[in-house]
Amino acid sequence: DALPLDEVDGNVIHTVKRSVFSESQPSPLKEPLTLAAVSQDVLRNILDLNESVIQNEEFVRCVSGGKLFPGSVPLAHRYGGHQFGYWAGQLGDGRAHLLGEYTNRKGERWEVQLKGSGKTPYSRSGDGRAVIRSSVREFLRSEALSLVVSEEPVWRDPFYNGSVIKERGAVVLRLAKSWFRIGSLEILTRTGELDVLRTLLDFVIKEHFKSIGTNDPEKYVVFFSRVLNETAHLIAHWMSVGFAHGVCNTDNFSLLSITFDYGPFGFMESYDPNFVPNTSDDEGRYSIGAQANVGLFNLQKLLEALKPLLTSDQLSQSQQILREYPQIYHQRFHELFKAKLGFLGNEEKDSYVIAFLLKLMEDTGADFTMTFRQLSEVTLSRLQKGSFAPSLWALSDLSSHKHFRDWVQLYLQRLSRIMSDSDEERQHRMQGVNPRYVLRNWMAESAIRKAEKNDYSEVTLLQKTLMEPFMEQEEAERAGYASKPPSWAQQLRVSCSS
Ligand code: AMP
Ligand code: MG
Ligand code: MG
Repeated sequence: DALPLDEVDGNVIHTVKRSVFSESQPSPLKEPLTLAAVSQDVLRNILDLNESVIQNEEFVRCVSGGKLFPGSVPLAHRYGGHQFGYWAGQLGDGRAHLLGEYTNRKGERWEVQLKGSGKTPYSRSGDGRAVIRSSVREFLRSEALSLVVSEEPVWRDPFYNGSVIKERGAVVLRLAKSWFRIGSLEILTRTGELDVLRTLLDFVIKEHFKSIGTNDPEKYVVFFSRVLNETAHLIAHWMSVGFAHGVCNTDNFSLLSITFDYGPFGFMESYDPNFVPNTSDDEGRYSIGAQANVGLFNLQKLLEALKPLLTSDQLSQSQQILREYPQIYHQRFHELFKAKLGFLGNEEKDSYVIAFLLKLMEDTGADFTMTFRQLSEVTLSRLQKGSFAPSLWALSDLSSHKHFRDWVQLYLQRLSRIMSDSDEERQHRMQGVNPRYVLRNWMAESAIRKAEKNDYSEVTLLQKTLMEPFMEQEEAERAGYASKPPSWAQQLRVSCSS
């Protein structure tokens, strides 16, 4: 029931009222289509499918919007959001179609969605498409089944410098337990559709927050507190692997606190709180170090969305919960970094040891991911000696700092107080939390350049590598994924254009 109501700059905005979804048919991509990559894990372990389905010639159409699964009623979700700090009004799935849900053998319920599958009532001025480069990145980081590349021409200005180029359309089939966002609720509150708001919220709680009683009079407060906790944990986790989402708008923040809507995200190479992965983000609003505060901002917006459903007591209770966010975030951050350093138990100086190391990393530009990884691989006697083989290149960079030895002394003393700990046990603990591989921009870029020439081998290699980021893998080593990044990595820029 999408009605064209407003016209802005010649673009029709379909303002939809009183609905959470609009029926919308995917627009098939121009053939020939190539099934560029498939995740075996998603195929087998989430969708209960046999590898042989890929051979079926209909498969590529089914996973790119050309053919619907039996019974599927494709939907586009209506949501709003705060973008870069300001209320942006109605947004919605402008290039995504929810195909349906699937409950697998394990009893997990998954929502299956296409991205890049054509216009919907929420496309605004967009073309409903996604290009190869953004789709490769989305495929590699989301819970995705497949990447299909087409001959569909798609026009983009990748660097926002006025030069529009012809690219090709691609579709990713991605899955999540839920695609609802903070913006899913915000839009309903903003337009005063409070009955729909209540219905949607009750649905989300019933489906995804099963431990909250549906008749609990405090259920919305408990819901808010859960989302707040999980969001704080998620962002602390992002920080622990150096991940910057890039576009932390409320329409990209999941109600289940999962990471989704992968745009110009990035993993920082060296520790830098001012790292901004998105070149379109001039002010650095979504720099990696700002994410914790942005999370708080987004949770404030969530609370504003819930406000009409709360009594004044519940509202002040929720505001109190909001004030606990910094503490919850810092506690989690602290625990995660302690684990990264192999610490067990608590010591007063732990925060200092963590902050000291981060400072050394910041000063020396030592690689963030590999410093932690190599600390997990080195023996303590080697660390004490302070001379590192070329394979320990990140530690070697770190050791150039004049205070490196001071830090090592503190670190070794701290570890020596852990009873009956061996190098092997500590290494085992640390290697389970410090990834050897993360999707660095240069790695994605290398795979994208090949994909644009119809060679998808590196997309597949990266997909396999990132399935087991904690495990050393031969092919990944040969590709240099744990080596010092190539010099061209520094020049890479990623924008919002996708
Ligand atoms: P994002 O910043 O990528 O999360 O997108 C913000 C909004 O813009 C969402 O409503 C998207 O669906 C929409 N959007 C982004 N790109 C396109 C496109 N090419 N066509 C239609 N809608 C788009
Ligand atoms: Mg989005
Ligand atoms: Mg996007």
